[in-house]
Amino acid sequence: MIMPVNGQSTAIFHRSLNKEYDTASSGSGVYIVHSDGSRTLDGSSGAAVSCLGHGHPVVIEAIVQQARKLAFAHSSFFTSDPAEQLAQLLIEQSAGAFTKVMFLSSGSEAVESAIKMARQYHVSRGEAGRVNFICREYAYHGNTLGALSAGFNPPRRQAFEPLLSSAFHHVSPCFFTRDAKAEEDEEAYVDRLMAEYEEMFDTLGPSSVAAVLIEPMSGATLGAVHAARGYLARLRDLCDTHGALLIFDEVMCGMGRPGTLHAWQALGNVAPDLQTIGKGLGAGYQPISAVLVGSKVHQVMQSSQSSHPFISGHTYQGHSIGCAAALATQQTIIHDNLLANVVRMGELLDRELREQVPMLKEIRGLGLFKAAEFATSPTCRIAADVARTCFSKGAAVYLCSPAVDAIVFAPPFIINEREVKELVKIVADSTKDV
Ligand code: PLP
Repeated sequence: MIMPVNGQSTAIFHRSLNKEYDTASSGSGVYIVHSDGSRTLDGSSGAAVSCLGHGHPVVIEAIVQQARKLAFAHSSFFTSDPAEQLAQLLIEQSAGAFTKVMFLSSGSEAVESAIKMARQYHVSRGEAGRVNFICREYAYHGNTLGALSAGFNPPRRQAFEPLLSSAFHHVSPCFFTRDAKAEEDEEAYVDRLMAEYEEMFDTLGPSSVAAVLIEPMSGATLGAVHAARGYLARLRDLCDTHGALLIFDEVMCGMGRPGTLHAWQALGNVAPDLQTIGKGLGAGYQPISAVLVGSKVHQVMQSSQSSHPFISGHTYQGHSIGCAAALATQQTIIHDNLLANVVRMGELLDRELREQVPMLKEIRGLGLFKAAEFATSPTCRIAADVARTCFSKGAAVYLCSPAVDAIVFAPPFIINEREVKELVKIVADSTKDV
C-alpha cells in the first residue's frame, strides 16, 4: 500500500515545495476521494480537464482493451486503429474546417507544434521571411519556451525572460466588459483592437508575420473571457489580407466546454487555419493533445514534403492508449448528448452564482466554462483565499492569475443539478467566511 506522504518526506519535486499535498486515492463521478476517505467536488475538472468526471467505466474499458492489444508502437513506423478513428471523428465533427490531425501529449507540445507548422508552411511556400508571431498580453499558451514566449503571464515568464524568443509580439487582449471605454460599444471596441493589430503588422512589416495566435476564450490568465462580437471574423480578414495564418489555442476552452465542440463555433463560427486542443480531448484519462490542421496548411505541406519535411516529432505522439482513451471520451460525449447538459448546467451555474455568492463584480463565460470575478480592489484580493477555503470545505475551483481577482468553474460535463447547487453553496459560504 502506498502511504500518503507530506511536506519534507516526499521525494517529488512538487509544484510548490512548501505545501503539503493531499493524496488523491480514487474518484467517482464529479468527486475525488482523499486517502482519509473525505471527498472533493471537482468544480474545475482540475484545470478544465476531467470533462467526463472520474472513474468513467467506458473510458477505463477502452484503455484496458487497448493496453491488452498493444500499448505502444513508434509513430515513425506505425499508425493504429484508435489514432485513425479518433482523427477521423475530429475531422468529421469540425464541419470542413480541418483535414488532418497531429496528436501530441500535452497542450504545450501542441502549441509548439502549431507554431512550427505555421513557420514551416511559409518556408515551404518560399516565404522564409515570415518569422514573427502576433499574440496577446495576458494569454497563456503553456510552459515550454516557445509557448511561454507566445504567452504573456508575467509571473510565469519573469525568471525565464532572457530565454524567451523575440519573434513573439503582444497586442491587447479582448476583454470588452473590462477594457471598453465608456463611449464604446462592442463594434467600436473591436475597431480599436483591430487598429492595434494593423499597427503591429505595419511595425513588423506585414510580410514578416507568420501567424496570429490567440485563445478565442482566455482561460487560465483572465478567466473565461470570450472574444467580443465580430472580433474573430475581423481578425480572420486581417490575417488573410496580410497572408498570415490564424491559429486558435483551444487547449483549455475547447472540446465541448463552451457548449459547442469548439469555442469559435459559439463566437461567430470563424474557423482558424490551425487549432490546438488538449485537456478535454482525453478528459485526463490519458495525456493527449492535438493540432487540427486546415486544408490550406496541409496541402502546402503535403506538396512540399520531400523538399521541406516537417521536422517536428515527439516520441509519444499518437500513443495508442492515449488515442483509445480520447476516442472513448469523445464517443461518450456524443452518445450521452453531454453538450446539452453543458448548456443546461452552465445556465444553472450562472444563475446560482449570481443569486448566492456575495461580492461579485462579474460572472462570465460560456457553457461550463465560467468565471466569478470579485468586486475587490487591487490591494485587497480575495480569490486565492476563497479558493483555499473552498478546498477545505470540499470543492476544488481554479484560481486565475493575479491579473484578475477571479476563480474559474469548469466542472465535468456529467454534473447534475444537486451537484451544481452543492458547488455554489460551498463557494458562497467560503466567500462569506473570507
Ligand atoms: N494553452 C492553453 C490555452 C492552456 O490553458 C494551457 C494549459 O493550461 C496550455 C496551452 C498548456 O497545456 P499543458 O499544460 O497541457 O502543456
